[in-house]
Amino acid sequence: MSLISRRVSLRAVVLLAGSLAVAAALTLRAPVSAQGEAMTVDQVMRMPKIDAHAHVGVLGPGQLDAFVAFLEKMNFRWLNVCVGGMNWARLSEQIESAQEMHRAHPARLAWATSFNLTNWSQADWAKAANSTIDDGFAGGAVAVKIWKDVGMVLKDPDGRYVMADDPRLDPVFSAMAKQGRTLVAHLGEPRNCWLPLDKMTVEGDRRYFSGHPEYHGLLHPEIPDYASQVAARDRMLERHPTLKVVGCHLGSLEYDVDELARRLDRYPNLAVDLAARLVHLQIQPRDKVRAFLVKYQDRVLYGTDLEFGRGSDAAAADPAARLARLAATYESDAAWLATDQEVAADNARAGFTSRGVALPGPVLRKIYFENARKWYPGL
Ligand SMILES: [Zn+2]
Repeated sequence: MSLISRRVSLRAVVLLAGSLAVAAALTLRAPVSAQGEAMTVDQVMRMPKIDAHAHVGVLGPGQLDAFVAFLEKMNFRWLNVCVGGMNWARLSEQIESAQEMHRAHPARLAWATSFNLTNWSQADWAKAANSTIDDGFAGGAVAVKIWKDVGMVLKDPDGRYVMADDPRLDPVFSAMAKQGRTLVAHLGEPRNCWLPLDKMTVEGDRRYFSGHPEYHGLLHPEIPDYASQVAARDRMLERHPTLKVVGCHLGSLEYDVDELARRLDRYPNLAVDLAARLVHLQIQPRDKVRAFLVKYQDRVLYGTDLEFGRGSDAAAADPAARLARLAATYESDAAWLATDQEVAADNARAGFTSRGVALPGPVLRKIYFENARKWYPGL
């Protein structure tokens, strides 16, 4: 191509790009990307979506109806995750209420059960856990949660922490694998948990760990450290290659998509949810994160860790304000995932913005809906 014709075609490209930008602005559409049609925030909000990691607490009279109407308006289905085997009384209540809500509104509220850990030292521990899990699935549960209390709280009488790859957990994991049941695994914490507050990479973690010093790993050298938590989880995945595992919170490898990609390559039985860790993607190099999400589009589930109706939550005082905040989170997440706009990410730090990754429509549909249905059979 001659220099002149190259210049002419360059001008044509610039003009074309200009008119495309105008057209995009007029129709409020994000540009078409190489991997498929882009979607607007509006289109994302209208399509069927699953929040694959959320928590519904105790709801006052009338609040459940208001909440379900909200889910209908946002076109979301919630996977309500029960959690906390170290407090069996509270977990039992959660299980009962999650099951009831699912029964009343199956189209909008799914649920994940969990199991008791307070009886860990008893011989029939695993039998009891399996029977809680069986009951849960009979009541419509689609997954089983294991929480960070394995690895960070539960101890044997000799003072040693029980880790995720402990052989005494095998009877539970093996029974689940045999029946095609999925484990929702929140194991370990973000790497920031083992750093001083002022070294943490995002404001959200700084806020959480200053409010929950009991989980701030740096303050508790007796708790196995970050590398030990991740290594135990990895060995658990190895021990149970046929058990489907969804690693909550980007599998606690939120700080680097390359580290996460290595695990996804090594363990085909692993997927991850984005719950409460989108901000960690927003602070990493944008094009690398986008390439990661496109490459692993079958292994990432949208989830938020949002709560509605927990005891201390403002929902009791002002449910409408709480629902408005949930809606704002959903819209901001959709803007970042679907468009290439600069999106405010105050959870990183005040005033911080991150350019959206503009994922193609087919990828968005997987992350927001299809992957959750695939990784949680029955959802
Ligand atoms: Zn959670």
